[in-house]
Amino acid sequence: MIKSNYFHDNEDLQMHIHHFIDWQGIVDAYEDGFRDAQVYKKTGNERLAMSPTNFEEALEYYKAIMNSTGEIAGNDISQLAQSADAKGLHFENGLVTHPQEIVDVVEKCYSAGIIPTSFKRKYGGLGLPNVVKAICLELFYRADASITIAAGTVNLAAILEKFAGEEICNKYIPKFIEEKYSITMGLSEADFGSDLPNIRTRAEQTENGWFITGSKRYQTMACGLNGNPSAILCLARTGDAISGARGLSFFIVEGKDIQVTGIEKKLGLKASATCEVVFDRAPAVLVGKEGFGLVKYVIGMLNGARMSVAAQGTGIATAAFFEARKYASERIQFGKPIAEIPAVAKMLERMEREIAAMRCLMIEAAASVDKYHWRSEYLKEDGADDRTIRNDEQIKKWEKLANILTPISKYYNSELCNSITYDAIQVFGGAGFIEEYDVARLYRDARITNI
Ligand SMILES: Cc1cc2nc3c(=O)[nH]c(=O)nc-3n(C[C@H](O)[C@H](O)[C@H](O)COP(=O)(O)OP(=O)(O)OC[C@H]3O[C@@H](n4cnc5c(N)ncnc54)[C@H](O)[C@@H]3O)c2cc1C
Repeated sequence: MIKSNYFHDNEDLQMHIHHFIDWQGIVDAYEDGFRDAQVYKKTGNERLAMSPTNFEEALEYYKAIMNSTGEIAGNDISQLAQSADAKGLHFENGLVTHPQEIVDVVEKCYSAGIIPTSFKRKYGGLGLPNVVKAICLELFYRADASITIAAGTVNLAAILEKFAGEEICNKYIPKFIEEKYSITMGLSEADFGSDLPNIRTRAEQTENGWFITGSKRYQTMACGLNGNPSAILCLARTGDAISGARGLSFFIVEGKDIQVTGIEKKLGLKASATCEVVFDRAPAVLVGKEGFGLVKYVIGMLNGARMSVAAQGTGIATAAFFEARKYASERIQFGKPIAEIPAVAKMLERMEREIAAMRCLMIEAAASVDKYHWRSEYLKEDGADDRTIRNDEQIKKWEKLANILTPISKYYNSELCNSITYDAIQVFGGAGFIEEYDVARLYRDARITNI
C-alpha cells in the first residue's frame, strides 16, 4: 500500500477541507456557543480541558485529529494490511487470537488519542462533529478495513449517549474507552438476519436483574482484541413469542458473561473476528425503555452504522484508485505507461470522478446529521419538551435531509466501492488477481459493504 499521510496526500479531500465544507455551520451546530469550554471554566472537569473556546480553535482541533489519523493510517496501518490479512485469526478453546501487529498498532492509535471519535468530551471521547468522524473513518478504512474494525468498534456505544440516560452513560462509556473495549451490535441470529422482528434470544427479569439466554451469529469483535474486554449491545425478546418488533428490548451484556463458540471463515475482513456467541443466563443491563429495542434504539444504531459504511466505501475505493493510478503510471506496455492508453485512462477517470461523488455524499450526509442532531440534543439538555424539539424549523429541515442522504450515501458508496475495486483489478491486469498486490484484498473487503 502507498505509504504517506492519507489526510494530506488526497487533493480532493483537501479541497473539501479548504473550500467546500461549511465549517462555520458545523462548528456552530456542534460546539453550540462553546458550551464544553464554559463548563470546563466552571467545573474544571479535566475531560473538557481540550474544548475549543472559539471557531479558529475548533477548526484547528478537528484538523489536528484528521492529520494524526491520516499519519497513522497511511504510515502504519496501511503497511500492515497485507500481512494481517494473510495471517488471519486463530480460534482455540473459545479464545480468538488476532495477529500481534494489529494489537500493537491499535495501541499506537490509543496512545495518539485518535480512537474514541464518536463520544462526547464529557464521557472521555474526542468530541467531534459527524463530518470530522466521517473523514477520520475514511482515512482509517483507506488504510485497512479489518484493522479499522478491530480498532474502532468501541464507537458503536455512542448510541448510548442518545438513548441510555446519564447514569448508564457515566457508568459505561468512560470504562469502555479507558479499558479499550470492543463493542458489538448483538442483532443477527442463525435463523434471523434481515428478519430481526422475529429473533428468539430472550431476556428474563428476576429480582436480581435481567438475564439473557440464546445465541447470536456474525458478532463482529464480540471476542475483544486479544484479551481486551468486549460488550454486546444485545437485542432480546422481553415480550411473548409472538410480540414481534414491539416485544424487543435493548441490553448491555459484558463479553466475559458469554461464550464465543466459533469464528467465521470469510471472503474478506480476514483480520477481524466475526463470532458465534452463546448467552446462558448472561447478566444484562436494560437500555432505555422495554419494547423500544428494535423500533427506536437499533434503528438509531443502524443509522450510525450506515454513515460508517458510507465512509468505509469511500476509504476502500480511494485505496483501490490510488493503487491503480500508481501502477498504471509505472507499468509499461507498447512503449508507454498504461495510464496513457485511452481505455485504461478512461477507467481511472471514472474511478476518480465517482470517488469525488462518494466523498460529497458522505460529507453532505454527515453535515446534515450535525445540523439537526446536536441542536436537538442541546435543546433537550436545556430542558425543552419533545413538542418544542419536534417543531423546531431547523431540526425539521436538516433531519429530513439527513433521512434522505444517510441511506443514499450508504447505498451509493457501497455499490460504487465494489465497482471501483473491480476496475482496479482490471487496471492491474493479471497482477490484480495475485495476492501480492493490494487490490485483490481491497476487492474482497469491498464485498461486505453492500450486504
Ligand atoms: C462480516 C460480517 C459482519 C457482521 N457483523 C454483524 C454484527 O456485528 N452484528 C450483527 O448483528 N450482525 C452482523 N452481521 C450480519 C449482517 O447484519 C447480516 O448478514 C445481514 O443483516 C443480512 O442477514 P442474513 O445474512 O441473515 O441474510 P438474510 O436475511 O437471510 O437475507 C438473504 C438475502 O435476502 C434478502 N432479503 C431478506 N429479506 C428481504 C426483504 N424483506 N426484502 C428484500 N430482500 C430481502 C437480503 O437482502 C439478502 O440479499 C455481519 C455479517 C457479516 C458477513
